[in-house]
Amino acid sequence: MDHVKSLKCLICAAEYGPDEIEYVCPKHGDDGIVDIQYDYELIGRRIGPAMLARNPDPTIWRYRPLLPIRPDSPVPPLTVGGTPLYRADRLARGLGLKHVWVKDDGRLPTASFKDRASALAVVKGRERGAEIITTASTGNAAAALSGLCASVGQKNVIFVPQSAPPAKIAQLLVYGSTVLLVRGTYDDAFELCLQAAKEFGWYNRNTGYNPYMSEGKKTAAYEICEQLTLGSSSLSQEERGAGGEVWAAPDRIFVPVGDGCVIGGIHKGLRDLLALGWISAMPKLMGVQAAGSAALYEAWRTGANALDMQPIEANTIADSISAGLPRDRIKALAAVRETGGVYVKVTDDEILAAIPALARGSGVFAEPAAAAAYAGLVKAIELGLVHPAEQIVVLATGNGLKDIASARGAVGEPFVVEKDLAAVKKALSR
Ligand SMILES: *Cc1c(COP(=O)(O)O)cnc(C)c1O
Ligand SMILES: [Zn+2]
Repeated sequence: MDHVKSLKCLICAAEYGPDEIEYVCPKHGDDGIVDIQYDYELIGRRIGPAMLARNPDPTIWRYRPLLPIRPDSPVPPLTVGGTPLYRADRLARGLGLKHVWVKDDGRLPTASFKDRASALAVVKGRERGAEIITTASTGNAAAALSGLCASVGQKNVIFVPQSAPPAKIAQLLVYGSTVLLVRGTYDDAFELCLQAAKEFGWYNRNTGYNPYMSEGKKTAAYEICEQLTLGSSSLSQEERGAGGEVWAAPDRIFVPVGDGCVIGGIHKGLRDLLALGWISAMPKLMGVQAAGSAALYEAWRTGANALDMQPIEANTIADSISAGLPRDRIKALAAVRETGGVYVKVTDDEILAAIPALARGSGVFAEPAAAAAYAGLVKAIELGLVHPAEQIVVLATGNGLKDIASARGAVGEPFVVEKDLAAVKKALSR
């Protein structure tokens, strides 16, 4: 790991060696989130856009020299990464925009973006010789850890709120995890998991605590820029940037935000690319929160410091972005503030309406939290925040099949017909 310089505390800027601390800066209890610092000069000598263009490996491990793992660490066999970036022209036209892409991370092995982070958790846990890996989750991070652990035969213990959607709980049980349904919120499950991990010496994947999760999530930013470059023949050379070894970057990326680890991870990936000189401008990160779980939106709006944020009572149909005290709030606020982006909030009704709108406009069926990113784009256009010619990426973070009940509530009922053609004709004429 000679390419990892240090783990730097985002509160006091203290730096630690990669083997010196496991999770957080010890000076701030469990809140001392750290950021992995790299030797970009060394990395730039090991990997570059031209070399990547020749690499047939579609997974996140194609970016291995940029990941904080040992060169010889085995990685899980499931195909994590390489999800499609669809150009969605019809969707764009309907919105009065020119360039919209949808990144479909619902296509990952356990059907959400969280596989990117959990894959790294499994590698790090096994580097540490962990007997058990644990996480608290609203559902998807758990399903991701569960599936990736199953792929390598790794024992794991999962804490999820009892209210998690049945499909996500089913995934955990099918993969063979030890599942603890907590009578409480996600925030309660998080605290309980922290306590248990400390008590029993388990390796802890928790978001906003384990610093390596952002590093897994950042791979989506690499993919977006790499894919945009490959697929951008319809853009002029000017629109693409300087050309040559430089990747294209979109103008804005819409990201659904709960704990803030995804948006922080995307920011990290983009900062890596800027530091390496592979992109020439920083996209604006657009954080989308549910109105019932909008702590980061409020902190951004009022200019509050992440450390002064107080827990709120979160309540939204988009379970994956329901977080009373966002665990990765330092990184999440920095992601939007440092890129000149914006936080927007969308109501549950707007999120539900976005599910069929996104599906019908692009063919991508998203769970409520993921559809929130699209609802956020609609909102941002209403607010006059988006220029029609901008290149926009919507991050679809989770598959619609994760939460059928919400999806069914957002659409009409099918025709029920007798088994004869007359009934079909009658139904179709209605
Ligand atoms: C976890 C998750 C998010 C939000 O990620 P945070 O890091 O909690 O902000 C968004 N969408 C889906 C589908 C998720 O599972
Ligand atoms: Zn510190």
